[in-house]
Amino acid sequence: MERPASVVKELIENSIDAGATDIYIDIEQAGRRLIRVIDNGSGMTKEDARNSFLRHATSKITSDTDLEAIRTMGFRGEALSSIASVSQVRMLTAIKNAASGIMIGIEGGTNKSVADASAPKGTSIEISHLFYNTPARLKFLKSAATEFSHILTAVSRQAMANASIRFKLTHNKKQVLDLPPSQSVKERTFQLYGSEIAKNVFEFNGGRDGIEIHGLIGRPSYTRADRTYQDFYVNRRAVKNPSLTHALYGAYDNMLMRDRHPIGFIFIEIDPSLVDVNVHPAKAEVRFRNQAQIHDLVRDVIREALQGRGEAVRVERADRVKEAMAEFGLRNADSQSESKTFASSYLFSHPNPPPREGRYNSAICNLQPEMLYPLTQIHDSYIIAQSQDGMAIIDQHAAHERVLFEKLQDQFGRGNIPVQHLLIAAQVELGPSQGSLLSEYMPELNKLGFIVEDFGNGAFMIKSIPSLIIGADYKQLLLDVLDEVNVHGNSSKMGELRDGILSVMACHPAIKVHRRLDQKEMVTLLDDLFQCRMPHTCPHGRPTVVRFSMDEIKKMFKRL
Ligand code: ADP
Ligand code: MG
Repeated sequence: MERPASVVKELIENSIDAGATDIYIDIEQAGRRLIRVIDNGSGMTKEDARNSFLRHATSKITSDTDLEAIRTMGFRGEALSSIASVSQVRMLTAIKNAASGIMIGIEGGTNKSVADASAPKGTSIEISHLFYNTPARLKFLKSAATEFSHILTAVSRQAMANASIRFKLTHNKKQVLDLPPSQSVKERTFQLYGSEIAKNVFEFNGGRDGIEIHGLIGRPSYTRADRTYQDFYVNRRAVKNPSLTHALYGAYDNMLMRDRHPIGFIFIEIDPSLVDVNVHPAKAEVRFRNQAQIHDLVRDVIREALQGRGEAVRVERADRVKEAMAEFGLRNADSQSESKTFASSYLFSHPNPPPREGRYNSAICNLQPEMLYPLTQIHDSYIIAQSQDGMAIIDQHAAHERVLFEKLQDQFGRGNIPVQHLLIAAQVELGPSQGSLLSEYMPELNKLGFIVEDFGNGAFMIKSIPSLIIGADYKQLLLDVLDEVNVHGNSSKMGELRDGILSVMACHPAIKVHRRLDQKEMVTLLDDLFQCRMPHTCPHGRPTVVRFSMDEIKKMFKRL
């Protein structure tokens, strides 16, 4: 039990095991002050309630044949006792039609009070002052924002795996989630993550040899900047297993663009005796008896689902279609309108003076003269350039990202990111957790030139954007920015978060691979790149330029 979220997870699992249809979770101070879980499940008899805090006091194994289940399902009767040993617990529980229920108070693992108490059928458990007697673990806890985001993730996963259960979650008395019972995982996705995600996923199922794989996967054309929307469940328990993640990416194979991640909520139903959940104390990691078989099955079922829907479009093709549309949009767009497509306009509307006359560009790199003369572009993706002592290959997308990133940084540093007001605001629908994340970071985003208005009920309007990113897909950009905030936001280093957001912004409108550049565009791009402070990597740390000296080239041809 290393953090409040693990406690929340165990308590919710118990409520689910008890057959609850309503589970209400109240959190205060990210779980340090209070974790309260109230359910309408079976409740406990007085005797069971007294025993429930004893180590290995599980009621879920009643016969020898269940022994297998001990090992496989992780019913070890340890959660309540270990929680009770590091906190103050108050439990109120009653079974159906009981004359009275029972209230038990425990502090640091020792009984403080037991009394009859009237209670509705079900169980309510309050954990206060978690880790009060283990200062080392208290110290290990991260910021409240981080710990709460772990709790939110834990609750969201349980909610996905149990769509028909009503969940409510409050934090410091403010409602965070209110999920009415839903008919399907898809509907639950909508409740949890908003329409944007829900409309880009579809249901799938398949399997063989008694193993069933089902769930939701994202359209390959709709991907995310991180893995937030990937969860795996084995027999309805959220698990981690690198081989499953690998299988998911394997299914999407060449459909994904670099650094993009598919959405996948994947459920595996399998005979529990084929799974070992006890490799991890919190039952979070699983191992399969036949890891390779499960891997291939997951990959194949998802791949077939993608192909069956005609979703399996190779990236290049998808990209070319987009590009063609962008080009078409440019020709047909009113030049005054902000809808002008960025893809092919950036380099021409470039604010910098045109490159100097002459064969070589004037780029300066770290005060050393850098003479790169672009010769050609290969596969519409890489620029081949002659350098003074050899040659260089430039990744045009990475290079452009670097250029935009530093421009945004400079503008921010000068205190004025020029902003473009959108004539037609872009609307985004967000789920509760994303919505509150956005609200929380709104002031920071405003400083970065993003003006977003909250229209209530999860609807947000993007009103203004930094001028430099005109033409990007603003909705997608905002979602990626939120993913970035999710990852970095909890670190106290605002500068890092800001750079993270700026690099996401830079990535979006940056010229993509598979875009033809003419000579003038190539020269301008290289010129801009070598005026950057760190021209040799993109903001994500990948190289922008790879060089070969004449000596290296000669060696390759055995001339040296
Ligand atoms: P396990 O879940 O592995 O059995 P726990 O320590 O989590 O062990 O719980 C111990 C026992 O307490 C359970 O087996 C169950 O009988 C009882 N229990 C715990 N929480 C609840 C609940 N919310 N409703 C009904 N019974 C519960
Ligand atoms: Mg349990």
